[in-house]
Amino acid sequence: MPKHTPSSLNPRSPLVLDTRELPRRPGSLRTVKRVAAAPADLGLEMIGVPEGADLDLDLSLQSVSEGVLVSGTVSGPVRGECGRCLRPIEDSLTVPIQELYAYENSTTDETTDEDEVGRMQGDLIDLEPALRDAVVLTLPTNPLCRTDCPGLCPECGVHWDDLPADHSHQQIDPRWAGLSQLTRKEE
Ligand SMILES: [Zn+2]
Ligand SMILES: [Zn+2]
Repeated sequence: MPKHTPSSLNPRSPLVLDTRELPRRPGSLRTVKRVAAAPADLGLEMIGVPEGADLDLDLSLQSVSEGVLVSGTVSGPVRGECGRCLRPIEDSLTVPIQELYAYENSTTDETTDEDEVGRMQGDLIDLEPALRDAVVLTLPTNPLCRTDCPGLCPECGVHWDDLPADHSHQQIDPRWAGLSQLTRKEE
């Protein structure tokens, strides 16, 4: 049974790196600078890179004895929602990428698991899984519009920024406190 299924990668896909121009001689180097459209669901539930947004790839591909080492950065815009007040967050991120992709049927290919070392598919490298991992690691699981965001008043849902400092929902006049207790007993 063949170990590898035939490549299903599209060499024209912006997140697929084609290494045909890179000699398989250790030390050979090629740079890849391009803008790629972000794939869907790149990020976490509350924050991520919008689908179709411009991702700036600034990568170098280096031949090593058993494969190709891809390193560099990917940058792009980030959109999300504050976990405390739900205000929109607009930010950007730059994630470092460093991933080794083993040649098919190399010793590394034969002796490691696919989650340890990436795999080349013929001359092609699918950057998307490594990019996803890097983006998810970089993004905050609980994004905030600012580090000291006070959030919303749990009673009325108004942002604490927009409420007076003494805002409270327990504003019973002491003179009426006794009366409200009476009413409660009657209930
Ligand atoms: Zn907030
Ligand atoms: Zn309130």
